[in-house]
Amino acid sequence: MKAHIVGGGFGGLAAAAYLIRNAGVSGQDITIYEADERMGGGLFLGGCAETGYNMPASVFDKEYRCTFDLLQTIPSASGSAISVKDEFFTFNTQHPFHDRAHIIDRDGRTVPPAPRFGLSVRDGLDLVRLALTPEALLDGRRIEEFFSPRFFSTQFWLLWSTIFGSLPQHSATEFRRYMNRALALFPDLSDLRHVLRTPVNQYQAFIEPLVAWLRPRGVNFLANAFVRDIGFAPSDGRISVNRVDYERDGAATSVAVAADDVVLVTTGSQAEDLSVGSMTEAPRPRESGRSSALWKRLAQERTGFGNPYLFFSAVQVPSSRWVTFTVTTTGTEFLDQLSALTGSKPGFGGLVTLKDSGWLLSLTIFYQPEVIGQPSGTSVWWGYGLYPERNGDYVPKRMDACTGAEILEEVVRQLRFDQLDRIKASSICIPCDMPYVNNIWMPRSRTDRPPVVPEGATNLGLIGQYVEVPRDIAFTIEYSARTAWEAVHLLLKRGPAPPPVYQGQYDPKALLTAFKVFVSQ
Ligand SMILES: Cc1cc2nc3c(=O)[nH]c(=O)nc-3n(C[C@H](O)[C@H](O)[C@H](O)COP(=O)(O)OP(=O)(O)OC[C@H]3O[C@@H](n4cnc5c(N)ncnc54)[C@H](O)[C@@H]3O)c2cc1C
Repeated sequence: MKAHIVGGGFGGLAAAAYLIRNAGVSGQDITIYEADERMGGGLFLGGCAETGYNMPASVFDKEYRCTFDLLQTIPSASGSAISVKDEFFTFNTQHPFHDRAHIIDRDGRTVPPAPRFGLSVRDGLDLVRLALTPEALLDGRRIEEFFSPRFFSTQFWLLWSTIFGSLPQHSATEFRRYMNRALALFPDLSDLRHVLRTPVNQYQAFIEPLVAWLRPRGVNFLANAFVRDIGFAPSDGRISVNRVDYERDGAATSVAVAADDVVLVTTGSQAEDLSVGSMTEAPRPRESGRSSALWKRLAQERTGFGNPYLFFSAVQVPSSRWVTFTVTTTGTEFLDQLSALTGSKPGFGGLVTLKDSGWLLSLTIFYQPEVIGQPSGTSVWWGYGLYPERNGDYVPKRMDACTGAEILEEVVRQLRFDQLDRIKASSICIPCDMPYVNNIWMPRSRTDRPPVVPEGATNLGLIGQYVEVPRDIAFTIEYSARTAWEAVHLLLKRGPAPPPVYQGQYDPKALLTAFKVFVSQ
């Protein structure tokens, strides 16, 4: 039995590991096809200290059940006997987030948490009403249909939307799922106390150790290999893959797939068509559409494969684009002023949100070093704009049209910090335009994402964030890990089923914690 995995992101790597660990498949029988030059997908690490790093920043919680079950098996990159999971939790116990100031206003002043995060009784009832509405009644509906305009001006919404990425026009279904999944975190929205992060960037914390575990087991990694198509055996009503066609280094190859082989396809990437700029150049948009091309092809030819265009088409980019930026600095001027303003030591504050900024900027200072091998005396911090198609207040341009220097200037002036020139001279700000990063929030119906195993499929599984898994939230590595585990379990009928999705609404402790927020003064 051979396994062909399309996509070398966290989901594809997790699938390979579950195949080996849960289903006893030999690593030598597994091939991972990755269109990019490196594994990792959305968990990337680009650049270097000299030219400026480029990476995402991510947060997690303890209920990433499939993820941590897997990472318990994987030794950490530190070379010690400790697992990735244990290293992660040890780091978070020793270095917990504690935001002393999360929101900054247009005058560069910190804004304290409001009682009930500004929610009125009616807002609270509207939240409960949505939480109690079955998903079957939420098809295609938007968050803004369930709340008064006032709700969207509360601190609750500001904190929620900048942590989780939701906009008023986004999916009510996904928002409901987030509420249930993140109920226990309600009191922590301001200080992020129980929110977890990786000891170093996610590429080195998760992707490298996974690859290092899979490689000696014989897994065949094919980087720069774009799977253009998969072929199906003629059959009545059943879907059996019999061919994988891929392109690599300009050459097209067709691989035969037997009836008892499995093919697991990642149907898209939040990082599709990301483009990277520099201090002096704005990112140049590119439109390859590669990560979702295979899904579009599959959905075009048969029913039951969902609606890829809902998530991946130019018309919805205004609701899904972020511009992120990673700043590598040899100076301390910015970090010193931010610490003095927020009272949080660098690396211990969670997010700082500049609430009046046109782009709705949020920043985080990583715990240093954020990159294994980062030169001492260098610090890395990160930020993003939730509304990058609006104009800045000091740089009167859309954020996605700005150079790194312009973004840095906007941030420094928003904060009313001194020493702009010195900060610019000691910093490299790398902007990264991500047109599809927030597309998992598009208002969807239940059939817009296909199931992990499409109806009638005998040896095809679909994995990643654009596959329907009941109850779970998609902007997470947990979601991709869950789809991978589920696909292996359903197709091979070996190993345990994935653990159930954590649901805060059935957890008395979480309910009580959230309730206390609503009755606080
Ligand atoms: C800025 C940012 C912030 C994030 N924050 C968080 C967070 O706070 N918490 C959290 O849990 N998660 C977060 N995530 C999400 C996390 O990165 C994703 O959940 C995860 O990377 C998804 O893994 P995946 O394997 O499903 O997809 P991806 O990582 O996107 O990988 C899919 C891969 O498949 C490849 N591929 C697709 N089609 C083909 C083909 N036909 N042929 C060959 N290769 C193909 C693509 O090139 C890509 O590399 C964040 C992501 C970003 C970008």
